[in-house]
This record gives sequence, C-alpha cells and structure tokens, in this order.
Amino acid sequence: ASVERADRALELLTAVRATLHEHEEELGRIDAIAGDGDHGVGMRRGVDAALDAATVARADGLGAVLRAAGEGWSEVAGGTSGALWGAALVSLPPSLDRGDLTVAQAAAAARAALDTVVRLGRAKVGDKTMVDALVPYVERLESADATGLPLAEALAAAAADAMAAARATSALRPALGRARPLAERSLGHPDAGATSLALVLSTIAHAEEG
Ligand code: ADP
Ligand code: MG
Ligand code: MG
Repeated sequence: ASVERADRALELLTAVRATLHEHEEELGRIDAIAGDGDHGVGMRRGVDAALDAATVARADGLGAVLRAAGEGWSEVAGGTSGALWGAALVSLPPSLDRGDLTVAQAAAAARAALDTVVRLGRAKVGDKTMVDALVPYVERLESADATGLPLAEALAAAAADAMAAARATSALRPALGRARPLAERSLGHPDAGATSLALVLSTIAHAEEG
C-alpha cells in the first residue's frame, strides 16, 4: 500500500508541477506588485526539486516521498514561501499512508500543514498571506468530514473556498513579509502566495476527481 500511495503522491506532484510551470509568469507578476517578483520562479524551482527528490525516494514509501519532496523544495526554492512549503510537506502526517485516502485524512493533513505554516511564519488571517487561503480550505475539509461528504466533492468545495479567499486578499494590505513596506501598492491585487496555494489545491481536487 505504501508504494501505491507513494506513486499517487508522485502523480499529484507531477500535476502540481504542470500547474506551477503554467502560472510561473503570472505569479511573478503578482509578487512584483508589492514584493520582489520571484514567487513564480521560486514555486517552479521548488516543485521541480521536490519531484526529483520524491522520485528517488519512491521505493521507500509515502512518508519518505513527502520528506524528500519537502526537503528538496525548501533547499532549492528560496524565499519565505519556499521554506514554508518545504516544512509543510515534511509535516504531513503518517496517517496519510493508511488505506484509501479519506476526507478525514485529507483534513488532518491540511490542518498539519496549516499548523506548521503558522508556527514558522506567525501569520494571522487577514495578514495577506497564503494562510488566508489555507484556513478556509482546512475548515471546509473538516466540516465535509463531519457531514460525510465524498472525497472528490470535499476537495473540490474546499479548493473553491481557497480560490475565493485568495481572490478576496485583493482587498487587504499585507501585514507581513516583503510586501509590507509597499502595502498600499498591493491594494486591489491578490496575494501571490495565496494565489499559488489555491492553484495547487485546485489541481489536487481535479486530479482526485478522475
Ligand atoms: P519572498 O517574499 O521571500 O520573496 P516568495 O515571493 O516566494 O518569497 O513568497 C511570497 C509569499 O509568501 C507571500 O505572497 C505570502 O503568501 C507568503 N508569506 C510571506 N510571509 C509569510 C508568513 N510570515 N507566513 C505565511 N506566508 C507568508
Ligand atoms: Mg517574492
Ligand atoms: Mg524573494
């Protein structure tokens, strides 16, 4: 089961890589409005390194794949988001490896990622970071688990909430990170890290649909 789950993770990471390559320029442009413009390059380099490292770890199972992916991501991506993405991947719980993926497992994994990002980055909802997209995602998965929604529907609903929340960051001024000194310029534009996260979560939802 462990190698099967590792293969599924590699498939998802491959789909995520395609999305991040496709949106590299757009993410860079968004980050350049009030930040330093490197978010697209960082995410692209991070996911490339994560997939390379994860592929090498495949035979050792899902836990090894996630650890390798996270370590590869943070080593190569650079930037605030690279460190947070890497640590979040490493922190995904071993319970993900048990049987078929359930809504409860997905919710627990998303909650673990959120806890890690908040512990390291100390962002609160409304600070205009990826946390603004991740919190509604986690909450939707947890309520979907409580109401017994099927996995594909739960992932799609949660990803739609994350995308809406990422778009809604346009109305916010950044309170943290490199974008803070240029906070006014950022008004009217979404946060780069919330946007890339929502794109990744939508990709995962699509992949689990079919
Ligand atoms: P850098 O800002 O170091 O150039 P990136 O451009 O790759 O790194 O990532 C910027 C994104 O990182 C922001 O758009 C925001 O979503 C996220 N971010 C910045 N600081 C924090 C933080 N303290 N906690 C969570 N996310 C953060
Ligand atoms: Mg940047
Ligand atoms: Mg940077």
